Amino acid sequence: MTTAFFWDERCFWHAGGNYAFLLPIGGLVQPMATGGLPESPETKRRLKNLMDVTGLSAELSLQSAAPATREDLLRVHPASYLDEFKKLSDAGGGELGRRTPFAQGGFEIAALSAGLSIAAVEAVLTGASQNAYALSRPPGHHCLPDFPNGFCLLANIAIAIEAVKARHSLGRVAVIDWDVHHGNGTEAIFYDRDDVLTISLHQEGNYPLDTGDAADRGEGAGQGFNINLPLPAGTGHTAYLAAMDQIVIPALETYDPDLIIVACGYDAAAIDPLARMLATAETFREMTTRVKEAAARLCDGKLVLVHEGGYSEVYVPFCGHATLEALSGSTITAPDPFAETFRIRQPGPAFDHFLRDYITELGEKVDLLK
Ligand SMILES: [Zn+2]
Repeated sequence: MTTAFFWDERCFWHAGGNYAFLLPIGGLVQPMATGGLPESPETKRRLKNLMDVTGLSAELSLQSAAPATREDLLRVHPASYLDEFKKLSDAGGGELGRRTPFAQGGFEIAALSAGLSIAAVEAVLTGASQNAYALSRPPGHHCLPDFPNGFCLLANIAIAIEAVKARHSLGRVAVIDWDVHHGNGTEAIFYDRDDVLTISLHQEGNYPLDTGDAADRGEGAGQGFNINLPLPAGTGHTAYLAAMDQIVIPALETYDPDLIIVACGYDAAAIDPLARMLATAETFREMTTRVKEAAARLCDGKLVLVHEGGYSEVYVPFCGHATLEALSGSTITAPDPFAETFRIRQPGPAFDHFLRDYITELGEKVDLLK
């Protein structure tokens, strides 16, 4: 049984507009030489390159996949949105939401990105692979059914869940979103359902500004099945693992899912330009190990990681490599060249103490099923 890794060069060809750290170019903001959109293909391409150079790629089952079909997309997105997206994509590209510019052919690339996620879930559910990673791009966790935002054009994970639910018998799914931004799209799509537990760890008050509160617990049948863990800026390795150990893993144990999916962003890393957290490659390795162990106990190891954000072209490859080492159990390593730098920049004792209390209180607030 292997770890499958779904990727496609065409996903690296998705192109956005010219932005300078989310500020529109113009006036006194000089256009960026490289385009300027923080969501660049380089973070993902360099992860794949690093895996090729270390030999990790050769230990995984590398595959592409078919694009998501219109039928797949329609389970999450209304026809009106898909039609508008396709029309603008054919006409040369543009912007349909907030901070989700795309170039000509963006529709087909987004459908392929969703297709990689579907194939990853399918491979794990059918037993073709023990677990899987989808290097999906563009990402998906911010996308609402009819409103793309935060670089996300289609809701990859939601599309994948609905696609496999339509084809296989699949009971409960738990989605853990450790991208540093709130998984508002995934939350909204499953907010009134108890067959999908959504958990998001994110920097409070980052993006989106108006979602991600710990008090947002779901509604109707979904009451209690959405968990938001807003963490203060400066949260580092120890506190991330405390949040996993004290809240996320116990929530998984209570929920007892049949499949676990991680919305795997790397923008909680210490050097990320779009957030202010202090996670390291070791943090992602440890979080992956914990979720993998939980999957082994709860759902025969059925675990899929879907790539979301992460904007440091230099550091994302090392965070991703550590994640894939843990996921696959490979002994091939890519030693973190920044480990010592970030170790000495972790929160000091006073903030650590504050974070310990904060996470304990957060855990009391978000007891599952309440
Ligand atoms: Zn993010």
